[in-house]
Amino acid sequence: MAEVPAESRFVIVGGGVHGLSTAWHLAQALRESGEEGSVVLLERDRLGSGASGISGGIVRNYYRSEAMTGVIAESVGIFESDPEGFGFHQVGYLAVVPERQREDLEAIAARQAQVGYDSELVVGNDACREYLEWLWPDVNSGGVAAALMEKRSGWADAAGTVRNLARKAREAGAQLFEGVDVTGISYDGGRACGVQTTAGEVACEAVIGAPGVWTPEWWQMQGLEPVVRHGGEEVPISEYWLAREGDFVLPGVGLSGSAGRSAPVVHYDMDEPLVSQRDGSVITDEPWGVYFRLGRTGEGIVGGALPLEMGDGFSIDPYGQENPEQMSGDDLSDFFVSGLAHFLKRFRGHAGEWEERPAGGVLALSPDRYPITDWSTPGVYSIVDAGHGFKMLAIGREVAGEVLGGVPSELLEPFRLSRFAEAATHVESRSPYPWT
Ligand SMILES: Cc1cc2nc3c(=O)[nH]c(=O)nc-3n(C[C@H](O)[C@H](O)[C@H](O)COP(=O)(O)OP(=O)(O)OC[C@H]3O[C@@H](n4cnc5c(N)ncnc54)[C@H](O)[C@@H]3O)c2cc1C
Repeated sequence: MAEVPAESRFVIVGGGVHGLSTAWHLAQALRESGEEGSVVLLERDRLGSGASGISGGIVRNYYRSEAMTGVIAESVGIFESDPEGFGFHQVGYLAVVPERQREDLEAIAARQAQVGYDSELVVGNDACREYLEWLWPDVNSGGVAAALMEKRSGWADAAGTVRNLARKAREAGAQLFEGVDVTGISYDGGRACGVQTTAGEVACEAVIGAPGVWTPEWWQMQGLEPVVRHGGEEVPISEYWLAREGDFVLPGVGLSGSAGRSAPVVHYDMDEPLVSQRDGSVITDEPWGVYFRLGRTGEGIVGGALPLEMGDGFSIDPYGQENPEQMSGDDLSDFFVSGLAHFLKRFRGHAGEWEERPAGGVLALSPDRYPITDWSTPGVYSIVDAGHGFKMLAIGREVAGEVLGGVPSELLEPFRLSRFAEAATHVESRSPYPWT
């Protein structure tokens, strides 16, 4: 393997989707502009060994924050530019919600229309029943008040996306290194001038960090306390949640709709009690939700449910699905299968017949649950993920423009660190999830 150079104009820390997209777009912009300079990306483990490699891969634009709609529309354009490379399945994304979330859905649909993101809104129980039964004759539309079909959304292959981004970054001229841990940042006169790594020092003009769930450590490397002043108090910059997901197969029973229609990704929120398929008990009488899509091979279902907040004493490392503490457990299984059976009658009465493979993983949410993209100390740009960033490939493109051209991106303006102090954080939705 090539040696890490002692100098590079730009150093990117972290080989997840954000770091890789930044490396690709930065190297491409340098090449196109004919400017001098190189791009080096340093990843302490393997590319995609953070959340990016285990992501459920759902690409949706279902967010109450208006700023998200614009960034995601641009990001979907990137997936659309190479659907095969990213393993992008543009099957649509259908959000189905009860009355308490109807206004959210109407606002999201209006914003999507504004930015030209093609979607179809259906409002009222009768209209939703007609719409949903057209897709699945055995659907339960009770309690449904609105549905939104995002036609440009779908899902992409997580590992395929990481690999494709790495390929594009290398082809554009970026150098990517695995197994190189960045242990410190060097400053000269208060401005970053290089990074210290397990493979020696690398001098640079600017450092761009996309450290995923390791953001607190990244903050400390810059001499910053890993907190943000939000809502009048100091809160941690990262709050940890367990995304509960799994692969589920009910032999002989699938998700396909009437006339063999392929199923969109479905997001189903409900406020009727959720009753266990296993023993008839009430699992919850609070608002709940499940999401699901067709499995990667066209069989089975990949899905998940509301995430769980991680308690104290939890350790990020080792990160990933080899760590049993970071996997969804039996509580997901009954919740998910019962949620699915609440929505589609074909899944009722089959408890005990499902073949399951638990998945999931740890997410780090920012204080208002949206990404932060900003210069965090002089010469250091940070992309702080908020637990739903797989789909947000355009962040890297915009960051590349900001770092190289010095011109702030309009799309990223709402994602600055200053929004916390200015109380200009994003709109909250009525969804039971912490991230919409
Ligand atoms: C189970 C699960 C399901 C998800 N499903 C979806 C979904 O369906 N749709 C969606 O949009 N999002 C989803 N997400 C969220 C999404 O995966 C993340 O938001 C996104 O991948 C974050 O990308 P990242 O590049 O910021 O971080 P990461 O992918 O975590 O990459 C950060 C990288 O930085 C490296 N690193 C950190 N510190 C250092 C250092 N000091 N030196 C060198 N390297 C370092 C790490 O090793 C890591 O590889 C899901 C997440 C999980 C866990």
